[in-house]
Amino acid sequence: MARCILDKEKDPLGTMLSDFCCGDSGAFLNVWSSTLEMSTMQGTTMLRGFERMNDVEKCALAACRGRILDVGAGAGCHSLVLQSRGLDVDAIDISPGCVEVMRRRGVEKSYHRNILDLRNSRYDTVLMLMNGIGISGSLDGLNLFIQHLDTLLAPNGQLLADSTDLTGKFLKKGEAVYDEEGGYCGEIDFVMIYKGLRSDPFSWLYVDFELLHTICSFHGFRCDKLIETEEKHFLARVYHSIECG
Ligand code: SAH
Repeated sequence: MARCILDKEKDPLGTMLSDFCCGDSGAFLNVWSSTLEMSTMQGTTMLRGFERMNDVEKCALAACRGRILDVGAGAGCHSLVLQSRGLDVDAIDISPGCVEVMRRRGVEKSYHRNILDLRNSRYDTVLMLMNGIGISGSLDGLNLFIQHLDTLLAPNGQLLADSTDLTGKFLKKGEAVYDEEGGYCGEIDFVMIYKGLRSDPFSWLYVDFELLHTICSFHGFRCDKLIETEEKHFLARVYHSIECG
């Protein structure tokens, strides 16, 4: 899990989004991965409006309430929808380019922050979307992040976060869910490249719901699945076991 904020020279995503906002409508970056196929991230996708969002995102936006923290907000597409509904949203991202783009697009409260640096802010909803649990990077990182939630959630607060269960995909290829060193199949390393700018390698976690549920229970949280697609992309709601009356 990233423990700091990024410098401009290590920010291909933010730079690509800035270029897109400045009129380069074809801007995209390449994403290299240790196990998945090479892919791209398009400016048009990152700046999607509500009508282009998928059912998982729409379900998450409908479940948002109270004071909201959008973690890893990117270009601010979810923050903008929530803001337009009159909700109070803080948007944070480690990418300076993303924060600049959010400000330009009208996200009123956007900050250049790492989620691990926020403490005692007390939100009713912490939102993490686009396989947002991935920010935790690994199962160790997820344990750390779920503990950190205690310092972020108001009484009766909730985390709404999505992920994709890759275990079936690995089993289908005859590969193990845990490798010989105990590494989980959903811990995937990536590098992003845009016009000669290269990110440091970072890991992203894709977790199956059962494992997420077990980790949440271990730390005293409940975890419900709100929606799941045929591709095993799901939205989870995580909240304190004892709800305050
Ligand atoms: N939620 C957005 C963007 C997803 S991309 C959307 O759905 O469009 C993931 C974002 O998380 C990136 O912009 C990345 O810079 C940010 N990020 C990664 N680690 C982070 C951390 N520890 N704290 C805050 N933001 C982080």
